[in-house]
Amino acid sequence: MFYCVLCEKETCYVSKFCDDCRIIKNIMNVYGYKEVKDILEKVCIRNEKQRQYKIDNVEKVIEDKVDDENQTDKSYITRSKHKQSKSI
Ligand SMILES: [Zn+2]
Repeated sequence: MFYCVLCEKETCYVSKFCDDCRIIKNIMNVYGYKEVKDILEKVCIRNEKQRQYKIDNVEKVIEDKVDDENQTDKSYITRSKHKQSKSI
């Protein structure tokens, strides 16, 4: 069996790279492998501080959503009834 030399998961018989890794390799050919490596490290790899920011943001979104659900604004119902009575 021949495996892709980059992902080492897909089987390849004709070329060294599978279809997905060929795309990655083409990007590396254009931008350079160091640039691609830097982008992957900066975007995909998070340190503990950055992970905590993400956790804090998700918790805030959940809290805001719960607050929105608890505050039921029924003013639209009275407005809607008012409109109906006017039109009739
Ligand atoms: Zn591959």
